[in-house]
Amino acid sequence: MKEILIIGNGISGMMCAIRCAELGMKVKLIAPGPSEQSQSVMAAGGINAVTERHEEGDSVQCHIEDTLKGGAYLAGSNAVKGLCSDAKEIIHYLERIGTVFSVDEQDRPLLRAFGGQTYKRTHYCGSSTGKHIVSALVMEVRRFEAAGLITRIMRHHFYSALISDGRCYGALLYDEDARELVPVYADALVMATGGQNCLFGKTTGSSRCDGYAVGRLFMQGAALKNLEFIQFHPTTLETPQKRMLISEAVRGEGGRLFYMDGDQKVFFMEDKYGPRGNLMTRDLISREIVATGRDVLLDISFMDKRLIDSRLPEVRDICAKYRGIDISKEPIPVAPSVHYFMGGLAVHKDHETNIQGLYAVGECASIYHGANRLGGNSLLSAMYSGKVAAESISGKDHKLEPADFENYILAEQEGFKKMLDAKSPFAAMHIRDMLADTMREHMSIVRCADSLSKGIEDVRYYLSVAERIHYDASVSAYTNYSLSGILTLALAALTCADARRESRGAHYRSDYPTASDEYRAATIISYNDGNMQVTFDRENAYED
Ligand SMILES: Cc1cc2nc3c(=O)[nH]c(=O)nc-3n(C[C@H](O)[C@H](O)[C@H](O)COP(=O)(O)OP(=O)(O)OC[C@H]3O[C@@H](n4cnc5c(N)ncnc54)[C@H](O)[C@@H]3O)c2cc1C
Repeated sequence: MKEILIIGNGISGMMCAIRCAELGMKVKLIAPGPSEQSQSVMAAGGINAVTERHEEGDSVQCHIEDTLKGGAYLAGSNAVKGLCSDAKEIIHYLERIGTVFSVDEQDRPLLRAFGGQTYKRTHYCGSSTGKHIVSALVMEVRRFEAAGLITRIMRHHFYSALISDGRCYGALLYDEDARELVPVYADALVMATGGQNCLFGKTTGSSRCDGYAVGRLFMQGAALKNLEFIQFHPTTLETPQKRMLISEAVRGEGGRLFYMDGDQKVFFMEDKYGPRGNLMTRDLISREIVATGRDVLLDISFMDKRLIDSRLPEVRDICAKYRGIDISKEPIPVAPSVHYFMGGLAVHKDHETNIQGLYAVGECASIYHGANRLGGNSLLSAMYSGKVAAESISGKDHKLEPADFENYILAEQEGFKKMLDAKSPFAAMHIRDMLADTMREHMSIVRCADSLSKGIEDVRYYLSVAERIHYDASVSAYTNYSLSGILTLALAALTCADARRESRGAHYRSDYPTASDEYRAATIISYNDGNMQVTFDRENAYED
């Protein structure tokens, strides 16, 4: 029986675990905490699919075209075809396992309009779609756990992969309770670690999705793709801890963006782009908000209060709880913030990376969203990629050739113990904060060569400081050891942004403000002995 190790228990990790178990494989599902604390529970707006109950005129082909166009033609077209074609089955599967989607009086699914999509095709559960999907998947995971096929292990973190001669054999994990590194061997290692929020500090996402695992795997030889494409969500609300997402659902329900000019309301998106202006893609709206140079507001107060209560309860609650705003009476002050990472581990259509036996699914993998993701396509890709990876692993002969990791494991364990014993005047958390400041300043919505070089210089300096750090006892062991992986990932992202001398999707350069055919290809970055090399995948080697 094949044994699979999955790191991360959000929607993509759980879906992969369930499908592996259905196919008769044994799974260890690893994460620091329960699935109910994964970022997936935050997903509010919904999941895209063209089902038999679609809007008149819509089709799977149209969903494919919208996705490719939204991604500025950098997404894998065959992969996107698979994603959109399977979406209907994914919705039916979710219904079968207990996800209750919102319906109208005749029991027909309610569909929401999301940005960059020609038709309404976003299925939702009020404004807490992620929570409902996570709950349904957790029940399925438990069912397979009872059958002895899935084991959930918490309070464990990824440390490094066990790789020899381009083949992955499992991972070294950090056990929080024992405070030591433990090896886990497996026929396939699946990474499902989500986004890279730590690079920017305060984002809409979970701080647990920090990018460390992707950075560490990069240092171990895994190629990364499209790191420069970072989605800024145009409508987020400032709070002390983080940026709270004001879901696109608000604009899908008719919400209008405006700013005040004296006592005049200026509906700048509608003025420039017509009646669907508030539903343009996220990158474009974010840039337009920045270009106004004003405080921008989002108004939904004209909507019937009963509809707000039934369709947007989470948005209503967030605004009331964090800022004392009653959205049925007043507009919401909004600003763009980092929300989603289109880049990540480069995977083929079957979700295997350039390292045999190492797979990536969900937000940490890069394949479906190209230069920009459409709202509602991420939950879909998390579900779909989990399935695809499991089926690919099941179909392949992953029989392990013996590889000896004894020396590697002993050396890492010894180094880890030394790290715990050492003391250092440097604060790991302080470096993380400085990194976030650098990234927010130099890798923001609008970039240019000068600013990116400054960012690269800063991060190189942080890396040199981090090398001298032994242990900062004021923060967790994980915060300490994850630092160099996170910094390396940030440097890789800045390097990719510097190399792409054009503007496309979420990557906008004031010194190269238009798209160029020369760059109509995914960015691939690899790491060799401390050096980073960027290439453009013009042959689509990673697509199929
Ligand atoms: C506020 C918000 C609203 C959103 N709304 C929508 C929406 O309406 N529709 C949509 O399609 N998308 C939405 N998204 C995006 C979507 O929710 C995510 O892209 C998706 O849920 C990611 O799922 P995942 O399984 O890849 O990762 P996650 O759910 O992020 O799970 C990652 C897992 O990896 C674990 N992990 C991370 N690092 C390590 C490590 N080093 N060691 C061990 N474990 C680790 C984490 O603890 C977690 O368990 C939203 C995102 C946010 C932030």
